[in-house]
Amino acid sequence: MTGSQGKVQVPDVAAQVTYAMRQMGVSPIPRNYELFYEAYIGSNPKLTKDLAALGNRATQEEIDAIGAQYFGRHQVNAVDHAHHKIVRELEGVVNMLRQEQSSLESYNKLLGETYQRINSKSAASTELLTNAISLLTEATDTTMTHGQETMVGMATKSREMEDIRRELDEYKRIANTDSLTRLFNRRAFDEKLASIFDNQFGRATTSLVIGDIDHFKNINDNFGHPVGDKILATVANVIRSSVRKDVFVARTGGEEFAIILESASQEEASAVSERIRRALESTPFKNSKTGVNYGPVTLSLGLCLAAEAESPQELYQKADVALYCAKSNGRNKVMVYEDGMKKELSKSWLLYKK
Ligand code: GH3
Ligand code: MG
Ligand code: MG
Repeated sequence: MTGSQGKVQVPDVAAQVTYAMRQMGVSPIPRNYELFYEAYIGSNPKLTKDLAALGNRATQEEIDAIGAQYFGRHQVNAVDHAHHKIVRELEGVVNMLRQEQSSLESYNKLLGETYQRINSKSAASTELLTNAISLLTEATDTTMTHGQETMVGMATKSREMEDIRRELDEYKRIANTDSLTRLFNRRAFDEKLASIFDNQFGRATTSLVIGDIDHFKNINDNFGHPVGDKILATVANVIRSSVRKDVFVARTGGEEFAIILESASQEEASAVSERIRRALESTPFKNSKTGVNYGPVTLSLGLCLAAEAESPQELYQKADVALYCAKSNGRNKVMVYEDGMKKELSKSWLLYKK
């Protein structure tokens, strides 16, 4: 707070955010503020990085593309609504209190100066006035103390709000997580897939890979569902540890997984898919207690570049066609989508999809 050393310090987030926006020549409109606010508090480090990368000549379109990528889908969800509302309300209250505090401070300063001036005239006739001013100053001091107490209360409130915010973040994380494998779930996947098409800049270097465990039904039939579940969790771990930490990995259905690779060429995406396939193929699935070998467990993978599709649905469908080709070519394979594949999309594909 300006001019209030030793008093309650409320971080001036709004001012910092506005300052950063001004520095980058960004229009001070609400949707930009929201984006820069999130970047400032660091709720998503990638968002912060992407915004910073825009430099000082960001166009509104570029900013909106980032907005669409990070918030486009989110805003329809109730948790996010609550989240934004709390943040906005909190800022509003803090601003209001800050104004109140600063106007009281100037009032107090003014009274102090008047008091000095009257005193310096050393006239007995001013005694009455001096007393009046003393009383007023005292009253103002009381108000100031009250104002400070309000600020302390507000700081507590802001901590409580922060707790609510953390709680909401946690709900959001749970809502996006598959409980069996701890990977992202279908809901998170749908959101992520759609975001690829909200951001046309990254689309050229983004790929979708769908992996489906081979003959998983046999595993369940031979060893039982609980073993099947354990195997699903292990497969998830193998996929997770075969890719970089920031790569999006989801369990999209029963024994189906999806990997979204960003900033990667088709060759790199193929290499990552192949790495996953090989890692799983060479993972032992032997029960150390019973000696029973559940393995080998293998994965068929279909890959499609986002540039090959016009919509999330089309991208998913094309990666799925490539996956089908991997299945029909003997399984435990990676296939990259090609235009010709669609023509081969015959009755058998529909049968496979049931
Ligand atoms: P393909 O190589 O053609 O993919 O053969 P598949 O046997 O893997 O395919 P299919 O679609 O015939 O069977 C998938 C099986 O996955 C059937 C279902 O019981 C099993 N499954 C789906 N979800 C779960 C789950 O959460 N846990 C367990 N244990 N099994 C599951
Ligand atoms: Mg399947
Ligand atoms: Mg399968």
